[in-house]
Amino acid sequence: MVTEILTPSELKKVAPVFGQMSFDNHEQIVFCNDKDTGLKAIIGIHNTVLGPALGGTRMWQYASEWDALNDVLRLSRGMTFKSAVTGLNLGGGKAVIIGDAKTQKTPELMLRFGEFVHSLGGKYITAEDVGMATSDMDLVRTVTPYVTGISEDKGGAGNPSPITAYGVFMGMKAAAKYTYGSDVLEDKVVYVQGIGNVGEALVENLTNEGAKVFISDINQDRLEEVRDKYSATIYTGSNLYAEQMDIYAPCALGATVNDDTINQLKAKIIAGAANNQLADENKHGQILREKGIVYAPDFLINAGGIINVYAELENYGRQEIIRKTENIYNTTLEILNNAETNGVTTHQAAFDVAQSRIDARKKEK
Ligand code: NAD
Repeated sequence: MVTEILTPSELKKVAPVFGQMSFDNHEQIVFCNDKDTGLKAIIGIHNTVLGPALGGTRMWQYASEWDALNDVLRLSRGMTFKSAVTGLNLGGGKAVIIGDAKTQKTPELMLRFGEFVHSLGGKYITAEDVGMATSDMDLVRTVTPYVTGISEDKGGAGNPSPITAYGVFMGMKAAAKYTYGSDVLEDKVVYVQGIGNVGEALVENLTNEGAKVFISDINQDRLEEVRDKYSATIYTGSNLYAEQMDIYAPCALGATVNDDTINQLKAKIIAGAANNQLADENKHGQILREKGIVYAPDFLINAGGIINVYAELENYGRQEIIRKTENIYNTTLEILNNAETNGVTTHQAAFDVAQSRIDARKKEK
């Protein structure tokens, strides 16, 4: 109870792990340290009720170890709900390696990290995330079977980004169906913010359907490349949030729906790939609801990537990956309707579906 009245910095001092908001009942947190290779990693295992905790490894130059800890906890919790709402028999986990992926990632460091993953006996299964490549996962695979996202020629399911984009597209269509009564996106004005691996594939799906797509990115070369490949328009204004549009698709960073942007938004729908789009799930989810902006929950519609790697564990093929990803349409529609019926935010409605799956499985055990 004391923790409720402490400031975040006081909280960190008094209750550094169990007291953190993001700790949220993690089952296990593993700190991995190896002097010889310089490895400093944290593996967060949030929940394994539905299955082994699967989530990618991120390598990032964090400003502090606290930031690294917070990031891994937040991300692994997110994986629990993403897999649960998608109907996968997976728990939630994630790993972070502290350091610069460009200069500090060595084969020795990755192998040592793989050994730490192996020591958990399959409770945590790793995959790619920011700062990681398929080749890194291939290397980890030489010391542990508890890794996904390996190369296709080594039995992996390949690049997840087009599948993630397809799932986002399905979620976006479901949100359009809910909002406009039709899921046809032709002539809808869609702003895609961030045209990296997922954003570009989303632009392709959208332009194929005849949507009017505006693209924004901090990388000018990428903008020109994607504009030239598809019939998309580069956004040249200075405040994307305030533009008149039908759909805002955040595909770059998290927390873009925040105190500064939320009251400027004119979009009718928010549907994108970025994780943790709402800076504050409850507060901003509620404001969107009051403003009548339909938010397709990120952890629901960006699950294509996890569906793709899950195929490696369950041995299902491309057809089943596509079928499961297309089902994001049905789940999204169901959740948007549930939210309306129950008078809750769409984020809460998605969270409730995930939690009830976990609770039901717990009772069976
Ligand atoms: P990426 O790194 O390939 O692309 C991100 C793009 O965003 C880059 O082109 C970058 O220049 C751009 N960007 C960065 N800051 C920006 C800003 N302030 N404004 C506009 N653009 C900016 O990443 P990705 O794999 O395409 O993933 C995009 C998002 O989707 C990430 O948040 C990621 O966590 C999430 N996601 C990805 C997958 C997947 O399968 N790749 C799965 C689930 C979620």
